[in-house]
This record gives sequence, C-alpha cells and structure tokens, in this order.
Amino acid sequence: MHIDILTLFPEMFPGYLNESILKRAQAAGLLQIELHNIRDYASGKHRVTDEPPYGGGGGMVLKPGPIFSAVESLISNRQSPTVARLPIILLTPQGRPFTQKVAQELAQHERLLLLCGRYEGVDERVRQHLVTDEISIGDFVLTGGELAAMVIVDAVARLIPGVLGAEDAAEDDSHATGLLEGPHYTRPETFRSWSVPEVLRSGHAANIARWRREQALRRTWQRRPDLLLTAELSDEDRWFLGKLAAGER
Ligand code: SAM
Repeated sequence: MHIDILTLFPEMFPGYLNESILKRAQAAGLLQIELHNIRDYASGKHRVTDEPPYGGGGGMVLKPGPIFSAVESLISNRQSPTVARLPIILLTPQGRPFTQKVAQELAQHERLLLLCGRYEGVDERVRQHLVTDEISIGDFVLTGGELAAMVIVDAVARLIPGVLGAEDAAEDDSHATGLLEGPHYTRPETFRSWSVPEVLRSGHAANIARWRREQALRRTWQRRPDLLLTAELSDEDRWFLGKLAAGER
C-alpha cells in the first residue's frame, strides 16, 4: 500500500513511522509512506499557505491553492489506474468516525492520500471540490491532522497481509469481529499470588478456544454492551450471554 500524507509539518512523522512494525513493513516493501510539505506547493516568495478567514474571527485558514496544487501534482505524476479510485481523505473533527471497520475498508485500497489540516482548518472549497472522504478520529479537537493521520496509518497498516508476524494476528483483536478481546497471560505461571487460569495451561485447544470466546463475550457485555447489538453471535454465544444476564456465570 502507498500512503501520501500532505502536511505543513512533515518532520512530525518519522519518529513514529520509522520504528517497530511500521518500520519493518516499509523495509519489506509492504507499505510506502510519502510525506509532502504543503508549503512546497505554495506560490510566491513567501510561500504563504494560510490566511485569515473572510468575515473576520480569529485564527488562520489553509488556502485552497497549495492544497489543490499538491494533490493535482501527485495525481498527475502517477499514471496508475488506481488513481481514479484514490481516496483523498481530509482529517477533520467533522468527518465520519474512524473505527476498525473503516480501517478494514481503507486497507482494501492500494493507495490513500491523507490531508492534514491546521489552525482553523482548510478552505471549504477543498472539502467541496477536492476531497472524497472526511474522517475524524474522535469527538475532540486536535491542533492539527498529523496525529490523526498517524493513527490511521497505524491502524490500516497492521491490516495489510504480512505486516503482522502471524497472518491472523489481527483477527481476534478488539473490534475486529465486533467484540472486545479477552485477557492475555504470559510467564510466570504465578505472579505474586495471582495464577494464570487453569484452562490456558491445560493444552486442550477446544477448551481454550471456548474459554477465550466466553471471556471476549463477558468483557464486551461488561464494558461495551452496545457492541453486542451488532456483533455476529452463535447460538452458543447467545446461550452464554443469557447466563451472564441471569447472573449464572
Ligand atoms: N475549526 C475546526 C472545527 O471546529 O471543526 C477545527 C480545526 S483543528 C484546530 C485543526 C485541524 O486539526 C483540522 O483541520 C484537522 O485536520 C485536525 N483535527 C482536529 N481534530 C481532529 C479529529 N478529531 N480528527 C481528525 N482530525 C482532526
């Protein structure tokens, strides 16, 4: 997957993107991240990228010209058939909420373009006539879209086949199947006086799988019961949830 990131602050990215799993994914050629400074596409001696808003009020607004120039130059430089379907995503607190489902949807694309706003945001004509999608990482306001872009890159990259060590490592993660994942344990078997549950040490694969499923159901029921309304549940799952609700488990 190729991800272009348009930002006024490209130097904010390398520390996070060039470590650990994302570093390995890039080294293996599974992920390419290209950072583009919006300022490089601004005209004039001073390369102005933002101006005060029409109508007054505080703050600055990112001008449309440099952003249109940046996106158009990236698109025209690439003679790829995927360009026509290239999602041009504006990071904004007004966008659709970013969820694991959206990450899975984005991971299907060969290319993504992420546009980071700053200050009061971007000129409305960018939103109306250039971007194809708008995404928010939560109901709060950041100073810029850079952290939001990194969140999206991270969540999407780990869904690219081969990026995680084991091919199926993301399958049971919280939200991947609509449930929260159950607890994990590692060595030592007893830490202070707290022991690892017997079933995990039993070596009985079917019992372990059922225990993990029940723990995921229990945790979701306790913390995010709203997720149970849309999760895919088997008859056995429903039976277990019925027992939980009746206080029998
Ligand atoms: N004035 C804007 C508003 O009220 O909608 C907020 C602008 S915010 C200070 C500056 C930039 O940070 C935005 O243009 C956007 O790119 C980014 N940003 C802030 N919060 C975000 C969020 N929750 N999700 C995604 N991007 C966000």
